[in-house]
Amino acid sequence: MSEPAPADLLNALRGAIGDRHVLTDPGVVAPYLTERRGLYAGTTQAVLRPGSTAEVAACVTLCAGAGVPFVAQGGNTGLTGGGVPQGGVVLSLERLTAVRAVDPIGATITVEAGAILETVQQAAEAAGMLFPLTYASRGSARIGGGISTNAGGLNVLAYGNARELTLGLEVVLADGRVWDGLKTLRKDNAGYDLKQLFIGSEGTLGIVTAVALRLFPKPRSVGVAFAGLASAQAALDLFVFLRDRADRDLTAFEYMPPFALDIALRHRSGAVQPLAGEHGAYALIEFSSCRPGSEARHDLEAALNEALEAGLIGDATVASGGAQANALWDLREAVPEAQTREGGSIKHDVSVPLARLPEFLERANAACLAAMPGLRPCGFGHFGDGNIHFNLSQPVGMDKAKFLSHWTRFNRIVHDIVNDLGGSIAAEHGVGLVKREELAHYAPPVALDLMRRLKDTLDPNGLLNPGKVVAPAGTTA
Ligand code: ZN
Repeated sequence: MSEPAPADLLNALRGAIGDRHVLTDPGVVAPYLTERRGLYAGTTQAVLRPGSTAEVAACVTLCAGAGVPFVAQGGNTGLTGGGVPQGGVVLSLERLTAVRAVDPIGATITVEAGAILETVQQAAEAAGMLFPLTYASRGSARIGGGISTNAGGLNVLAYGNARELTLGLEVVLADGRVWDGLKTLRKDNAGYDLKQLFIGSEGTLGIVTAVALRLFPKPRSVGVAFAGLASAQAALDLFVFLRDRADRDLTAFEYMPPFALDIALRHRSGAVQPLAGEHGAYALIEFSSCRPGSEARHDLEAALNEALEAGLIGDATVASGGAQANALWDLREAVPEAQTREGGSIKHDVSVPLARLPEFLERANAACLAAMPGLRPCGFGHFGDGNIHFNLSQPVGMDKAKFLSHWTRFNRIVHDIVNDLGGSIAAEHGVGLVKREELAHYAPPVALDLMRRLKDTLDPNGLLNPGKVVAPAGTTA
């Protein structure tokens, strides 16, 4: 706990949202102070659990009046330390869970920020539609966190990031006012598109309390395959080949190097080797189609046969049904957890122009191995989006803490290559604390200046999630 909040502020907050929703007991508060990677330990004066947008606004007004900063938190599943409080209070959105409206004709759903991602998916499903945003933490991540980090995940290739799925927002501003921008329109050019400021700004410009989202027709057929390839370049050639044939029916193209498949097989119970031989690279491919009478599995099989004949792939297996498809997806989804079982891992979440992905992987692998022989690079992930989770597993037998002390050095090696290729050093997980210095290092000064001006305009007293994304002007990042 940091220094205690003024007693009269806590009393006023208790009056606004109820005694039992102002948490100060260290044991109860503890889960709100840590993040999944264990890189940061937070401090807070209290955790507030408002039950409505009006109560969020009341909390913000009271805290702002007392000059106490506040950090909005959803499911606390972020990967960059963006939700970790550094003093001030935590504003948990976990009680704002209502599905406010489902509109099957407009193909929209309007939900409160604390709704669990999986619940939003299920509400869409109950209306016979698809809400496509999905990632590993879907069972505990809350939609507000997904919006405030512009989350990506496993369906970006077909449906886009959280930003592309968002039609409108309701936001509590730093001064306690509520901006009602919860429209569900596809076309709206009435002035600046304000919602875009809050999507992906990691709670530093406002607190998202509700969101209007796009829905899609549910695919009528899905096909999943696992292909063995000679190299990352072969994966790129195959991706372009399949996109040309399937266009929008190509809904996932995930990449795994041999090391990733290796550790997934080693650590995931029940995981089965998908292909007979060994290959230089692997791709998980999904086709889906909404057209009545479509047979995505058949289309995928036909396209892969063509690719085999053209010498683009070494081997492939197409799942014969849902259970096999899930097993193939599970191999891909097992990688992050499997990597934690291999000791320390230094992580990068980067994107480059698609045409340069093989070059990135080749250069980054070579540079990291040259910097530390024995290192096990594991660049895997959303190949079709140009987004690779370039994680480095420690050499076998090395002390974990000693390995992790090289984090900054490897960031520089990898991010220099990303920057050289015109890429992004924060493709999917955001900036938070873990990439703040890297953003300051690589972002053009004009971009940083604009970000700071936006921050100063919307949060002049620096109370909204202070210290995240951009360092305050005048400080050296
Ligand atoms: Zn990812």
